Amino acid sequence: MEIKGKSVTIIGAGRSGQAAARLVATLEGRVKVSESVTLHQVDPSFQKWLQENDGALESGGHTQVFIEESDLVVVSPGVRRDAECLRWAEAKGIPVIGEVELAAQFCPCPIIAVTGSNGKTTVVTLITAVLRLAGRAVHSCGNIGNPFSDYVLKAKKEDFVVLEVSSFQMETVKEFRPHVGVLLNFSQNHLDRHADLDEYFDMKKRIFARQTEEDHAVLNKDDERIRGLADELGAQVTFFSQKEECGAAQTAAHNANFLVVTRVAGLLGIGPDACKEVFAQFQGVEHRLEKVRTFKGVDYINDSKSTTGESGRWALNNVQRPAIMICGGRDKNIDFSSLKEIVEKKVKRMIVIGEAREKLKETFQSVVEVEECDQLKEAVQRSQQLVQDGDCVLFSPMCASFDMFRNYEERGRAFKKIVQQLN
Ligand code: ADP
Repeated sequence: MEIKGKSVTIIGAGRSGQAAARLVATLEGRVKVSESVTLHQVDPSFQKWLQENDGALESGGHTQVFIEESDLVVVSPGVRRDAECLRWAEAKGIPVIGEVELAAQFCPCPIIAVTGSNGKTTVVTLITAVLRLAGRAVHSCGNIGNPFSDYVLKAKKEDFVVLEVSSFQMETVKEFRPHVGVLLNFSQNHLDRHADLDEYFDMKKRIFARQTEEDHAVLNKDDERIRGLADELGAQVTFFSQKEECGAAQTAAHNANFLVVTRVAGLLGIGPDACKEVFAQFQGVEHRLEKVRTFKGVDYINDSKSTTGESGRWALNNVQRPAIMICGGRDKNIDFSSLKEIVEKKVKRMIVIGEAREKLKETFQSVVEVEECDQLKEAVQRSQQLVQDGDCVLFSPMCASFDMFRNYEERGRAFKKIVQQLN
């Protein structure tokens, strides 16, 4: 792809849009940015950067003429695929790609791309740590918080990029071809955005679409849909499974993240010892099964990033102690009933908050005592009254945060603050 001298319109001035703009400018393209929010909501430092780099900015909505005057449109993951501004571009035959596709075209080194419904950030963090321990230069980026576009010009041929990709980012890839593609798991998620589960799965599997026999697909064998993919892929397939042995270096009983990381490391010529060492030292990523405090014999665990039933299941499978579970938030249209068994086994009492509280109560009250609380603080204080030495208080909401918080980070920080103040 040639960017030099081309007019590239970037839709969305958020983090990935800004990074795409920097990449386009470095490649000597002409940067144009179209943003739906008003000017005073656009990051002032980015506005200044645009001025200094002869970039154009339209804000407060997209206009047809602005979009049509482009050789290429780069769309941010927050923009829906069926948005009117993309239809204008497509009607004119202007290619529309995402930031991941743009960056990938200029990436000089192999890409290890990780997708799935849950555990992407955790697994990207772990793979990165293993590669570093093995002495490789690694850039971890993507959905994890630092846009891919900021790394491609820094990366050298012998480095590795470990990239977290969401299904939204997959909507706009075309030539994207990771050397190793990982599909961790697949569960109901984002049904508020994708039409149905099939469409959501089709997005996830696009990570493998351009791979050839020189590449690798690492697949979760325990998921029927994912297992079924093996026959249709061009890449060499490597499975991992918690139910059966899939290779000499693996014991099926291990945590799924350990299995997948060991598989990826093996494909890159790194033995299981490096993985064991990384796992032994791993403290968890913030807001993902993060131990906040042990207070009066009770572990308080912040798993605010849990926004689906499957991440709740993961949390319950991975906590060793009986749990007082605090959950609830904005419902993402998820059916929680398959969790009843594990909840019955692991949860002593459930405390529900937020918009989904009624639904959670209805689902779980036949297997555990469920109490409702209005505020997170009240829920934590109530847990403190209920716990016994050796229990844990697990805050794994299984829902989005937007009913009570700005985002899951703010929700997790609120939980941690309340826990730190317990006395
Ligand atoms: P993602 O980046 O896919 O959203 P994260 O690593 O941020 O995933 O974790 C999201 C939630 O899923 C957290 O609650 C975390 O503890 C949980 N989780 C981590 N690994 C897995 C896994 N392999 N399967 C299911 N849930 C997981």
